Amino acid sequence: MHEARDSIDQTFGLVPTMGYLHEGHLSLVRRARAENDVCVAWIFVNPTQFTPGEDFERYPRDEDRDTRLLEAEGVDILFVPSVEEIYPPGFSTVVEVRGIITEHLEGQFRPGHFRGVTTVVSKFFHIMQPDRAYFGQKDAQQVAVIKKLVRELDFGIEIVVCPTVREPDGLAMSSRNAYLERSERKAATVLYRALSAAEQLFRQGGRRGGALRTAMTNILATQPQARPDYVSVADPETLDELDLVTGRALASLAVYIGPTRLIDNVVLE
Ligand code: AMP
Repeated sequence: MHEARDSIDQTFGLVPTMGYLHEGHLSLVRRARAENDVCVAWIFVNPTQFTPGEDFERYPRDEDRDTRLLEAEGVDILFVPSVEEIYPPGFSTVVEVRGIITEHLEGQFRPGHFRGVTTVVSKFFHIMQPDRAYFGQKDAQQVAVIKKLVRELDFGIEIVVCPTVREPDGLAMSSRNAYLERSERKAATVLYRALSAAEQLFRQGGRRGGALRTAMTNILATQPQARPDYVSVADPETLDELDLVTGRALASLAVYIGPTRLIDNVVLE
C-alpha cells in the first residue's frame, strides 16, 4: 500500500466508520472524495471501544448494503478488516490520550472507550498514511481527542471535521437510531430540542454554564422516556466544563431513550 502510494504521488482521504451507513457517513465520504485523489473508506466495528455490557455483539451491520452505497459514492478503496486482522492473538499495545479530555463526559460513562478509539485510529493512520482523515462533529469529543493525538504524536495528517447531518425533525443521524422503537424515535427528538434551547439562550446573551445546562436539563425533563447521562457546556478543545462562556463552547449531552444511549452536541459561538 505504501509503495503504491509513494509511486503515484496522489493525496489520500480516509473515512473511518463502523458501518451501517447513513447520510452522515456519506457526507464524510463525499467531502473526502472531493478533496483528495483517492478516497478510502474503512468499516470496522472496533471491539476495544465498547465497554463491557455495551452493544458490540448486536451493533447493526450490513456489509452488502454499505458496499453498494460506497460504490455509488465512487469510493476508490474499501477496507473491511476482521477483528483478528486488526488485533492478532496476543495484541497488547494501546495508544492513549490522558487527562480530562478523555476522562470527562463519554470517558466518564464509557471507561476505556477513547483508548480503544485512539488505538485503532493510530493503526488505521499507520496502515493508510492518509493526507486527510474525515470525522463527524456528531462525535465532538472524539474529534477533540483525535486532534490532540495527531498533534502530539506528529502524525502529520489533516483532521477534517464535517457538520452533523440530521433528520428533518433534528435528530442526529446515527447507526444506533435503528434500535429505536416508534415511540422512542419520537421521544429522541428531545435531544436536539434541548440543544436548541441552549442555543437560543446563548443567542439571547446567556453565558453562564449553569444556566445553559439548566435550559437543556429542563427540556429533557419534559420527556419521560429520556434519562440523561450528562448535560455539559464545555471548552470544545479541552472539554473542561465552563462556568462562564467567554469564547466558543460545546453544548453536549448523552441521553438514554429507553435502552438506547444517544449523544448529540452543538457548538455555541
Ligand atoms: P461511526 O460509524 O458511528 O463510528 O461514525 C463514523 C464517522 O461518521 C465518525 O467520524 C462520526 O462522527 C461520523 N458521523 C456519524 N454520524 C454522523 C452524522 N449524523 N453527521 C455527521 N457525521 C457523522
